[in-house]
Amino acid sequence: MLHFQLLGTRGSRPILDQNYVYFGGNTTAYKIWAEGNFPIYIDGGSGLFREGSRLQPEVKEFSFLLTHSHWDHILAFPFFAPFYRPETCARFWGSRSFKETFEELFKHQFQTDAFPVNYAEIPATITFTTIVGGQSFEIPPPPRFTQENCLSNTHHSYHISTYQINHPGLDLGYRIEHKGKTIVILTDLAPIKNNYLGPGMEDFGAVDEDRYYEGLIAFCRDADLLLHDTHFNEESIRGKERWGHSTEIMAVKLALESQVKQLILGHHAPEDNDQCIFRKLHNAQKYCQKTALNVIIPQEDEIITIS
Ligand SMILES: [Zn+2]
Ligand SMILES: [Zn+2]
Repeated sequence: MLHFQLLGTRGSRPILDQNYVYFGGNTTAYKIWAEGNFPIYIDGGSGLFREGSRLQPEVKEFSFLLTHSHWDHILAFPFFAPFYRPETCARFWGSRSFKETFEELFKHQFQTDAFPVNYAEIPATITFTTIVGGQSFEIPPPPRFTQENCLSNTHHSYHISTYQINHPGLDLGYRIEHKGKTIVILTDLAPIKNNYLGPGMEDFGAVDEDRYYEGLIAFCRDADLLLHDTHFNEESIRGKERWGHSTEIMAVKLALESQVKQLILGHHAPEDNDQCIFRKLHNAQKYCQKTALNVIIPQEDEIITIS
């Protein structure tokens, strides 16, 4: 059994308005955990702030996967309360940016010009591992979790695969597997057709385009749950194909081609109110109504369980 919680549902920037209450206004952060196992957090958008403030101090160990370092995915890290406790141990896995490692970018968030607390003053122990697209690895339980629960590492490890996706900057998709259950996270990504955005994509040709998309289908293949960027809809993407985001129909097509069981439409534009998002959901459900695919848009903080 795997649980998936949407701590933040938005892209770009947070929003608070009476027409945004149903789906919420915090930016991207997700939490995944198997029953009785330690959680993995994906990204640190503003949705992570509330999680940090409500966790009991007894929760001391954290594991983070970072998709990419755009502001909407990292802005809550300096405000994450557990980093200000000396007992906290946090492990990060993330890709390089254009020039630097995520570790260097993370520390820049705590520079005097940007934030009043310097990184050297953070009492938590934080470690960083740089990964690249295509890499697979295990996330073993944090040491204290294994000791306190008298468990073996292998029983509770998560298996992670990565895929570099088409977005300005280096952006990784994550496939998270545990005991036969699979969740895939694809945020943020743009249509690939004649539209190559990230480093390493400069020399793309039509052959590579097909190879990239076939690789993406294989990456999502048979997942129980796919979270897919749908910042745009079929109208709002016009003229913005190079902004690095997808529509609900692109998400449904990939989910169908990959034979995914359940699709979550995520990373909503801050311009889209609840009514717009319901319309996006309706369009997606209509497009795949004769198939077995289940398309949903959970509310902020909602927990989806895969059993
Ligand atoms: Zn984003
Ligand atoms: Zn982005």
